[in-house]
Amino acid sequence: MNLLLYGPPGSGKGTQAEMLHKRFDIPHIATGDILRNEVAAGTPLGLKAKPIMAAGGYVPDDVMIGIIRNRLAQPDCVNGFIMDGFPRTIPQAQALDELLTELSKAFDRVLYLKVETSELVKRLAGRMTCPVDQKTYPPGTRTCPADGTKLVQRDDDKPDAVKHRIEIYLEKTLPLLDYYRARHLVSEIEGVGTIDEIHGSVLSALEKARVTN
Ligand code: ADP
Repeated sequence: MNLLLYGPPGSGKGTQAEMLHKRFDIPHIATGDILRNEVAAGTPLGLKAKPIMAAGGYVPDDVMIGIIRNRLAQPDCVNGFIMDGFPRTIPQAQALDELLTELSKAFDRVLYLKVETSELVKRLAGRMTCPVDQKTYPPGTRTCPADGTKLVQRDDDKPDAVKHRIEIYLEKTLPLLDYYRARHLVSEIEGVGTIDEIHGSVLSALEKARVTN
């Protein structure tokens, strides 16, 4: 089962993708996490991506396409994958289509997590992240409930970067919705509610579309 989690920053894609990963045992490919690991390791890619990410901008398409090409070639993707954070632009989507065709694969479903902009700003501004596993927690949380690590604020969760992330999403990423709607792949899911409620809606959408593992 090949899934794409699509939605604005802060819509809960990462959280839902993790739940799908546990339920269906297929890898969760999160380009944001891949980039953050490169930044933490201080690789040439990480050094290039760091200031772009901190400002809430987009890393160049060719770099991102290279990352995804390598990731999809890994053996754990044979039975499916959950893509989160890629594609983010029309050229990325076109390149991904070509790549999937080369690999004789295709998306089974695009799950669109719908959340109003005002709610996104509320969620992102002040959200805290565990530096170990990158999980995020509501504003005001100080330590990671899983391992007690001191939580940090991601540079791109600071107010100016949040504003830029939403603007660039509306300009560059929102057009992908029509791109995938034209292919009849999109299930729209209300992204407001508890994590379990939203997970339930995701599973219902997959059943309704007759997408099974
Ligand atoms: P969010 O979806 O909450 O904005 P992510 O963790 O998915 O955060 O991504 C963090 C940052 O990584 C983005 O703001 C961007 O700078 C960079 N990034 C991730 N994926 C891509 C991509 N496909 N194209 C360009 N930049 C990307």
